Amino acid sequence: MPELPEVELVKRSLTSLIGLEIKDVVLSQTVINGHKNNRLTIVKENIDDFLKVRNSKIINIKRRGKYMYFELINDDEMFYMISHLGMSGGFFIVDHLDEITETNYKKHWHVQFKLSSGQILVYSDIRRFGEIRTIKNFDDFLPFKNMAPEYTEETAKNYFVETLKSKRYENSYIKAIIMDSKIIPGVGNIYASEALYRSGILPTRRVKNISRKRLELLFDKIVEVFELSLNAGGSTISDYRSTSGESGNMQTKFTVYGQKYCPLGHEIKTKVIGQRNTYYCTKCQR
Ligand SMILES: [Zn+2]
Repeated sequence: MPELPEVELVKRSLTSLIGLEIKDVVLSQTVINGHKNNRLTIVKENIDDFLKVRNSKIINIKRRGKYMYFELINDDEMFYMISHLGMSGGFFIVDHLDEITETNYKKHWHVQFKLSSGQILVYSDIRRFGEIRTIKNFDDFLPFKNMAPEYTEETAKNYFVETLKSKRYENSYIKAIIMDSKIIPGVGNIYASEALYRSGILPTRRVKNISRKRLELLFDKIVEVFELSLNAGGSTISDYRSTSGESGNMQTKFTVYGQKYCPLGHEIKTKVIGQRNTYYCTKCQR
């Protein structure tokens, strides 16, 4: 599942679309049939409402947590198209669908945005956990309403530590809680394991048993793995691909995730925490 760095990289790779108009939208038969059967496949709103993106202009493309959003304007009306890549979603900019080289992504396209440049922005999703929807205001979208500040914001570190120090989270497992966007947005299963190893904190430790100083260190290590991954072009594991179909190489820098031994040669343990497989070292982490 793409985490913050992968979504940020997808967002950056779409920058060339800013200023273009969406001339037309084509939906796959899977999306259309899903909607006919009251399943909101990919498009998480009534199709007629979604189609107001036709003839809109792309003003900007931004990211919040693991969501990417397009600022659109249509008839002087400003609105947002929000996208979550789910487990295996991807955007491709092509002149023709055939240019998507990976068969699975070519086959499983779900939305085609035909652009004023003659290009097509294609949303493909093999497992169909991804989401696209339009909203008028951020207040209409619950995940944004309750989201902690972005890690790049000045207030983020203090917010992270103080929120974790509140009574409400004292019994939470640290691994599970840092994957909650109310604490810090964008940390998924991989970067949670990596940041915890780098800060020497056991993922099974309860928040109340971790000092303020160690929580501050954990925040710094989350930032460190995010930045490392951004510089490495993201992680390419399972189904994530960048817009150009290229692979990142952050997976070669993993210390514990998917590894047999930690960098110091100790055997890695795994345990399911918060329904996700967690990797850690009982010698380096306490
Ligand atoms: Zn170790």
